[in-house]
Formats: sequence, structure tokens, C-alpha cells
Amino acid sequence: MALLNESYLELAGSYLFSEIARRIERFKQEKPDAELIRLGIGDVTQPLAGAVLEAMKQAVDELGVQETFRGYGPEQGYDFLIRQIIAHDFLSRGVPIAEDEVFVSDGAKCDTGNFQELFAQGNIVAVSDPVYPVYADSNVMAGRGRNIRLMPCTEETGMKPQLPKERVDIIYLCFPNNPTGVTLSKEELKQWVDYARENRALILFDAAYEAFIQDDQAPHSIFEIEGAREVAVEFRSFSKTAGFTGVRCAYTIVPKDVQVYDAAGQAHALNPFWLRRQTTKFNGVSYPVQAAAAAVFSPAGQQQIQATIAYYLENARIIREGLIAAGYRVFGGVNAPYIWLKTPHGMPSWDFFDQLMQQAQVVGTPGAGFGAHGEGYFRLTAFGTRENTTRALERIKNM
Ligand SMILES: *Cc1c(COP(=O)(O)O)cnc(C)c1O
Repeated sequence: MALLNESYLELAGSYLFSEIARRIERFKQEKPDAELIRLGIGDVTQPLAGAVLEAMKQAVDELGVQETFRGYGPEQGYDFLIRQIIAHDFLSRGVPIAEDEVFVSDGAKCDTGNFQELFAQGNIVAVSDPVYPVYADSNVMAGRGRNIRLMPCTEETGMKPQLPKERVDIIYLCFPNNPTGVTLSKEELKQWVDYARENRALILFDAAYEAFIQDDQAPHSIFEIEGAREVAVEFRSFSKTAGFTGVRCAYTIVPKDVQVYDAAGQAHALNPFWLRRQTTKFNGVSYPVQAAAAAVFSPAGQQQIQATIAYYLENARIIREGLIAAGYRVFGGVNAPYIWLKTPHGMPSWDFFDQLMQQAQVVGTPGAGFGAHGEGYFRLTAFGTRENTTRALERIKNM
């Protein structure tokens, strides 16, 4: 008899996006002529940069020629990509990273979801509320449901989590944040690094939206903070940076200074365990995709992806300023493609979803779908077209 991992029974159903789809369907049946504008999508819409496409095509051609054919690559990623990552994303900010501290993968979702495998069952795990669901759900699947501690992010805290009062062992942080769009200053992030060093805790830092940072004071990498090399792992992705959500490429930095402890209190370096995990369960990202990712760092690639990010950020500005002009209280939308708005008069998130769809024909994402503290909030995203974004905000202002 095949027995189930009963932790899967504890998972809350992934009800958010199916419920949104159901409500949209019903609305379309009632009002077949209404033209809905979707500002709820968490996916990019602009095509790949030309430099990236060229590199990918060339790499595909190489695979069709005997002399340049490649089979399995190194599980951790090709040197040509790892060197570009280090030079552009870390050395340029004064952060030295060694080549064997970089692990190229097919996504930050997989990496943030898989990473918890390295840790004992008994760890106390802190996640923000509201939150990107992967951090909590992957720990529930692993049987740590009861060990999860939620860190409320409220208006009073500027949508930022506060240092835990009780001891926690593993802390997930995501800045710039999905869904709230807020980010931390270096001083704020340093408090987390200091906490982790004092408590021998580990920070799992998701920097998937790093490329959207505009503010000079905001750290792009947690490793810009003194001491972070001892207590942090960082997840990065080409998904939002360069439109790779369908192409799939990401990377994780596991510094060799990070230590974890066995039950006897003996310290072990974490890096070799992630290497062991990846070499056992993962066979690397395809060569054409890594070649495409490396082209993101070429001068032409950089110029092209920066133009796309600027396009999304201009959408974010239009949404943010439009909402403020319409009297809404908003967070984010400056260093991130997400705008987190407070619903008027404490209206429940789903009621606001219906009202926005009925009165403005605009679709967003109810904050309650990201956790209990998301109730009374709503997420709009900057990944639409300029035209739709502008029209949506006109409609919201006229509501
Ligand atoms: C989009 C996103 C990612 C990127 O995931 P990929 O698997 O690399 O596409 C990671 N973290 C957060 C919070 C995200 O919103």
C-alpha cells in the first residue's frame, strides 16, 4: 500500500488564481461586451531582448554540429555564465563571490522551494504575511507546518516584517517584495543579518526583483551587508529581470562561510550540501538557455533589458500616482513592479476585486490570497501594456 506524505493534506488549496478565473468567467457571461483589463498578472509580457535571442539561436545551431555539440553540462552551470554573474551582479557592487558559490538553476521558485530539504525537521521557520506562497508551502510539504511563524507586515510597520521576538532558525525574506512592492534600506537589512548572526539563524533572501531597484540606498544583494556571507543564501532569477519566465534560468548564491549545525552542535559548511543535492537531483539548465542568460550581461543585452524594466517601472509609476490621485493609500511601485493598495473603508479584498471588475472592468489580485494580513489590501502589477495601464487608471479614477 502506497502511503501518502500526509503533510500534503495540510496544504491550503491553491484557491487564489482559480477563484479569480471563476469570477472573471461569471462576469464575462453577465457582460459579454465588457472589455476587461488585467493588472493582476505576475508574469512579464514584453518579448525577449534581441541580444538574448541571437545568443540562444546561435547556441542551438552549435548543438547541431559535431564539433560544437554538447551533452550534459556541469550541474552547477557553465563557467561562462557563472563568471558573468559574478562580474556584473556582485563584483560591480564590491561583493566578491567565488565561482563555486554560484549554482545556476531553472528557477528561483524551484530553488526557494527545494532549499528547505537541507534542514532538519525541527527548525522554526519565519515567513512574512502576506507572502509569496512557495516558502511556506514547501515547508508544510516537508512536515514543518507547525513550525512556521508568520511575521505580519502591516501599515504600522510600513509593510515590512519585524524582527521575531521568539527564536527562529530560518528566515525567508523577499526584497523588493512580492506582493507588497516595498524594499529595505541597508540599515534595515543589517538588523536581520545581525539577528541571524546572534542567533545562528539562516536568512534565505529572495532577490528576484533586484533589477527593479531605483533607490540608491536599497541593497541589491544581501551580501552588500557586512557579515551576511556567514548567514545568508541569495536567490536570483532572470525571470523578471530579462523576461525568462518561460525560458527558465535562475541562480542561487551559497557562500562557503555559511554554517549549519548537527544535533551535537557541530558546525558544517552548507555549500557542499547544496552541491550534493543539486548534483543528485538536478542535471543543469540547457546550453541554449545558459547562453541566452549570459547574453543578458552583454552591453547590448543590458541596454535592452534596462529599457524593458524602465517600461514596466513607468507603468508602476502611472498606477501608483493614479491611485494616489484617486485617494488610495498605496505601497510599493517604486523599486518593484507591484503596487499594494489599501482597499477603501476597510473593504474585504474579494469585495474590492468584484467592485473593481464591475465598475472599472479592471482585474487585480486580492491581498487576502497572500495571507491573513493581506486582507483589506489588493495587488496591481506593472506587467501590462502602457496603453492598458493608462486606460485602467483612467477607469479607476472615474469609479
Ligand atoms: C517571480 C518570482 C520568482 C522567480 O521565480 P522563477 O522560478 O525564477 O521564475 C521568485 N520569487 C518571487 C517572489 C517571485 O515573485
